[in-house]
Amino acid sequence: MSIDFLKNADPAVWEANKNELVRQNEKLEMIASENFTSLAVMAAQGGVMTNKYAEGYPGNRYYGGCEYVDVVENLARERAAKIFSNAEYVNVQPHSGSQANMAVYFTFVKPGDTILGLDLSHGGHLTHGNKMNFSGRMYNFFAYQTRKEDGRVDLDQAKDLAQKHKPKMISIGASAYSRDWDYAAFRKIADEVGAFLWADIAHTAGLIAAGELNNPMAHCHVVTTTTHKTLRGPRGGMILMGKDFENPFGVTAPKSGRVRKMGELLDSQIIPGIQGGPLMHVIAAKAVAFGEVLKPGFKDYAQQVKLNAKALCEALMTRGFQVVSSGTDNHLMLIDLRNKKINGKAAQLALDEANITTNKNSVPWDTESPLLTSGLRLGSPALTTRGFKEAEFKLIANWIDAIIKAPEDEGIRKKVRGEIAEVTRKFPLYPELLKGI
Ligand code: PLP
Repeated sequence: MSIDFLKNADPAVWEANKNELVRQNEKLEMIASENFTSLAVMAAQGGVMTNKYAEGYPGNRYYGGCEYVDVVENLARERAAKIFSNAEYVNVQPHSGSQANMAVYFTFVKPGDTILGLDLSHGGHLTHGNKMNFSGRMYNFFAYQTRKEDGRVDLDQAKDLAQKHKPKMISIGASAYSRDWDYAAFRKIADEVGAFLWADIAHTAGLIAAGELNNPMAHCHVVTTTTHKTLRGPRGGMILMGKDFENPFGVTAPKSGRVRKMGELLDSQIIPGIQGGPLMHVIAAKAVAFGEVLKPGFKDYAQQVKLNAKALCEALMTRGFQVVSSGTDNHLMLIDLRNKKINGKAAQLALDEANITTNKNSVPWDTESPLLTSGLRLGSPALTTRGFKEAEFKLIANWIDAIIKAPEDEGIRKKVRGEIAEVTRKFPLYPELLKGI
């Protein structure tokens, strides 16, 4: 692997890489937005396509020598389209989920326009209207929330807000919401007020791809995702449309006067609008990951992700943990720690000491600051990739319970670390790479 070349060329960076490999192997990766790619994905990402400039799109580049990068970009697009209901439009160039989202804003709405999205403290993402983010700075956001009674998205509130504020776009999707979405109901609301409907499926894309969650493609005007979470690809973003359509803004092609498709507008918002040269090595890795999604084993993986999340969730609830919405339909859960008398930050730190990697997270109607939070977000995608099943996830619930009960107790931490080491040894991560260090 390329890591061997690194050892001689740059021992300091090699050392950090080696330590990261050991960390990933020895700790329990419970961060809901992370996953472990295949070696093939990493090999593509570490390959020669990193050297290539390819501004433009396949068959229409600003540079020569693009014949092979065109092959991988076309493969990535074709495979992504196949995964997502034969989507008519795919753009695999966004460097990240945030840039995919930015292109959607720049294409579908104008600065100052009103947008309705999920309240960030109820699970929404920074790019869904956070005041420090470009989205919150440039657009006029109103937020629907989850219901206090059952922790599920309040469709009635979304409808009322849509009718009151007449948004130009409605966004759905979240970073910390454990329930599925009713895309058809949101489309009805959007149609009633003449808004575009955009789904950001960054977290759930892999489960949707496998048919394990509702599919937004037929209901939303546009869909964005990251490629590195449940899709298990390299870090990056992607934009899709089930059906491409003529833009309603009167944008025409300069010479012919033809009305431009929304896909053309999205393409031009990615480049030249936001980005320059695409990351062709990452796009090659996206193609590899999408090829893996199309293999039958991916359905088994996605099913197991859900089963594992459910097993963990139920085991934690049995131990008195309060899970927002009292369960999960997907790969993650949000624990409200207030009855455990510990805040999210302290819980994250204590679990980290026991080799369980998680992230603190605000819960709806949080009484703590975003720096402390009252919650913990847990996810199953990464450890499911390692081969963990329900039995291991039930053990994880025991360990989390033990640590949260006595967060300062080094004796308990030591015991938990020992038990985790026994289990992780049975599921080695990247054994081929571990051999080389
Ligand atoms: N959208 C959602 C719902 C996310 O959860 C995330 C990342 O966590 C993003 C967008 C942004 O992705 P990236 O970190 O690649 O910019």
